[in-house]
Amino acid sequence: MEFKPDVLPALIKAATEAVAHHAEEVTALDQAIGDGDHVINLQRGLQALMEQREALAQLDWCSAWQKIGMILMSTVGGASGSLFGTLFVTMGKAAIDQPLGLLGFAAAFAQGVASVKLRGKTEVGEKTMVDVLQPVAEHLQSVAGTPTGLQLLLPEIDRVAVAGMDSTRAMLASKGRASFMAERSVGHIDAGARTSQLMISAIVAELAKHSASPS
Ligand code: ADP
Ligand code: MG
Repeated sequence: MEFKPDVLPALIKAATEAVAHHAEEVTALDQAIGDGDHVINLQRGLQALMEQREALAQLDWCSAWQKIGMILMSTVGGASGSLFGTLFVTMGKAAIDQPLGLLGFAAAFAQGVASVKLRGKTEVGEKTMVDVLQPVAEHLQSVAGTPTGLQLLLPEIDRVAVAGMDSTRAMLASKGRASFMAERSVGHIDAGARTSQLMISAIVAELAKHSASPS
């Protein structure tokens, strides 16, 4: 099963709606250990993607991801803007000349996450979006070469993302604004981990609908 970029408008819409649905919650998370602007930053980027979604659907995956990354970089701002932007720009570059089945996607996503870690100088365990992105990348890579069907894989990705998001609650922040709070950051979920999980969960739920219908 392979998805074509014509699925992008539905995915962008699903991610946008999921973030909008939890906007107040995310703002409260970022207010607790950051400066409270994360959801507004991200929604600026999602709005720009919504406006471009039909044009993005016309591109191949490499160009679409690079364009998404550039749109996010130029609209989101904050620490998260350059990180989400880097994720997609790198995915676009990584996927060039590669067939885009699950293996190709898993490899491109892993490279995208690696570049987020490099740019943020962040590893797992530092209470950031990386605590969601990295386990998802690892899970994708571990199953990409196996005959796991999408019907099984998509809910697994959702569970891995939720577990990663949950794991940030007990962590002490050592990167980003939350690090200024040091041990007072413990007990709060990281806002960027929450939005990363919300978008991933929304995207896999949407993909499940598309893979269920015969095409
Ligand atoms: P800012 O912190 O500049 O106000 P946002 O509020 O938009 O930016 O984004 C904050 C989120 O960005 C955090 O919750 C965290 O998940 C992520 N983040 C911040 N710094 C880093 C970093 N160095 N590495 C990875 N993620 C980071
Ligand atoms: Mg902030």
